[in-house]
Amino acid sequence: MNIESLLQFDREHLWHPYTSMTRPLKTYAVESAKGALIKLADGRKLVDGMSSWWAAAYGYNNPRLNAAAKAQLEKMSHVMFGGLTHEGAVELGRELLKIAPAGLDKIFYCDSGSVSVEVAMKMALQYWHAKGKSKKRSFATIRGGYHGDTWHAMSVCDPVTGMHNIFSGALSIQYFADRPRTRFGESFDEADFDSLKGIIEKNADVLAALILEPVVQGAGGMWFYSPEFLKQAAALCREKGVLLIADEIATGFMRTGKMFACEWAGVSPDIMCIGKAITGGYMSFAATLASSEVALGISGGIPSEFMHGPTFMANPLACAVAREAVKMACEPGTAANVSRIENHLRRVLPKALSYGGVADVRTLGAIGVIETKKPVDMQTVQQAFVDRGVWVRPFGRLVYAMPPYIIEDAQLEKLTSAMLCVAKNL
Ligand code: PMP
Repeated sequence: MNIESLLQFDREHLWHPYTSMTRPLKTYAVESAKGALIKLADGRKLVDGMSSWWAAAYGYNNPRLNAAAKAQLEKMSHVMFGGLTHEGAVELGRELLKIAPAGLDKIFYCDSGSVSVEVAMKMALQYWHAKGKSKKRSFATIRGGYHGDTWHAMSVCDPVTGMHNIFSGALSIQYFADRPRTRFGESFDEADFDSLKGIIEKNADVLAALILEPVVQGAGGMWFYSPEFLKQAAALCREKGVLLIADEIATGFMRTGKMFACEWAGVSPDIMCIGKAITGGYMSFAATLASSEVALGISGGIPSEFMHGPTFMANPLACAVAREAVKMACEPGTAANVSRIENHLRRVLPKALSYGGVADVRTLGAIGVIETKKPVDMQTVQQAFVDRGVWVRPFGRLVYAMPPYIIEDAQLEKLTSAMLCVAKNL
């Protein structure tokens, strides 16, 4: 591989996530990845702190996921889901229903997290349409959330931090409640619920659903809030006839220490989006789960069909990998790994609180966050991590890690030492 020419073409012609074509951020060419290590084309090896944005939870080039993909490849990579079905879709469905929060038993497979959010929002609207309550077309959410980059998913992202504020005039107006301030693990300040309570009580007749990331807000600010907030929100939604959509795309499959973050609050949503770790980091895939009440409610209306059906729905290759990934999420070794990582992060990262540039440190499950006082320069900080043999991609005032569950102790030590070193100089 001629690295220089590769990087030059990349710089001139390929868009990267959230980047400018005229002022592209530096990119690093990757040759391969295995376990928790990313090998750059120049031979350097980086300990991965990002799980490729929460997806590669079981490490790269995982033998079990490889075997599942290879076996499926020999049968068929794809077949349309309209009018056809296959073992992978069914067996994955069976695995999901074993672990899904109570009451969720209808599954819509889709192609990415953002699409699963679109599907969830469409389900909520179509449900109320079928019930003859077509005025219920708006959504409530909480500030600091992130739900994806497609059109309606964007409309429920935090309008300020959501990276989508330039589209704000063109997007549907939704209802934004204050972000809960009570942290995970603190005793709940009842005043935290006032803003959302007011919105739901005042607007229940036009609200189709409340959508939120349970307990852990990801890309909107890496904030861990009290499960009591979620519990009260779920109860009020039920009382006022507003559906609850839980976006578990980042939090699902043990990342927070529970299979799904809703479990911290003992809450079962009406609709749940899952993605990222379900893919094992292999190919884009997600799902939207619905309760029978929602699914049968939709089908009791006119039209009775749910109006969505992507080309790659239930892609067999993705289903085969996902089936194995879901099995792995359920194994005791995964829970043990998450608590091993959590204990390490809890023990080590708070040292950063004594650094002048650090405002806060928080950890939950296999997620560790150092919040800085000033926004970091992503390119410089990323380079500093690469120089220390670590892959961490900070944004805004957040230097954070959610490493693959299989990260080895020495690799974890290297990752957190680098986080502390870099944070000390911010
Ligand atoms: N919801 C949440 C909570 C997410 O973290 C993300 C991805 N960062 C999405 C939705 C969108 O998923 P995707 O990037 O697969 O479209």
